[in-house]
Amino acid sequence: MVTKEQILRWLQTFATQIEQNKDYLTELDAAIGDADHGINMDRGFKKAIAQLPTVADKDIGSILKTVSMTLISSIGGASGPLYGTFFLRASTAVAGKQELTAEDVLEMLKAGLDGVLGRGKAQLGDKTMIDVLTPAVIAFQEAVSQGQDTLEAMQRAVAAAEQGVKDTAPMIAKKGRASYLGERSIGHQDPGATSCYWMLKSLLTVLES
Ligand code: ADP
Ligand code: MG
Ligand code: MG
Repeated sequence: MVTKEQILRWLQTFATQIEQNKDYLTELDAAIGDADHGINMDRGFKKAIAQLPTVADKDIGSILKTVSMTLISSIGGASGPLYGTFFLRASTAVAGKQELTAEDVLEMLKAGLDGVLGRGKAQLGDKTMIDVLTPAVIAFQEAVSQGQDTLEAMQRAVAAAEQGVKDTAPMIAKKGRASYLGERSIGHQDPGATSCYWMLKSLLTVLES
């Protein structure tokens, strides 16, 4: 079972990872975008974390919904609505729950991915967050269908996500600002895919601790 405390630590761990590596994210975005992904994510998640004490006694769905609302209202760039939608749809999938089974975590991640797909209309291979979320959800689903627990499923999801983020480097960007560069986007790892990988890795870090 993934507890509410672990979900709160997940969000905190992700926010810390972003804060400590904000410049790296911004460097990635400087190469193929407008050099603000680190700044956007850090601002949004700092605000989201600041809201957590007000909802810490609520269910996991309410906690994720608060994160979503804060991200949507505080991040200006593409990543605000996209991460906001991820957390909004994730929150609906686990509404009312105080702890999550592996199946619940699967539904949460799958709903989040569907939300980003619906909102951003990116396809696999477009050099976006989708190139991390999709292989991660597939790996997680496969592990759950084989009867593995949340920790094992998350280990496989993060391994797939790590490969996914590396795979964005040779891609031509088809969505977002990076798409303006066309072939010149080749050779650069996607910033949003990178932060998405950290999001999943942060959950694994909490489950392993
Ligand atoms: P902006 O591009 O508005 O400055 P950010 O720099 O914060 O916003 O976020 C850029 C990231 O958003 C990209 O690296 C990419 O992963 C992601 N992104 C952009 N457009 C889409 C989309 N349509 N679908 C999924 N992800 C996208
Ligand atoms: Mg940007
Ligand atoms: Mg921007």
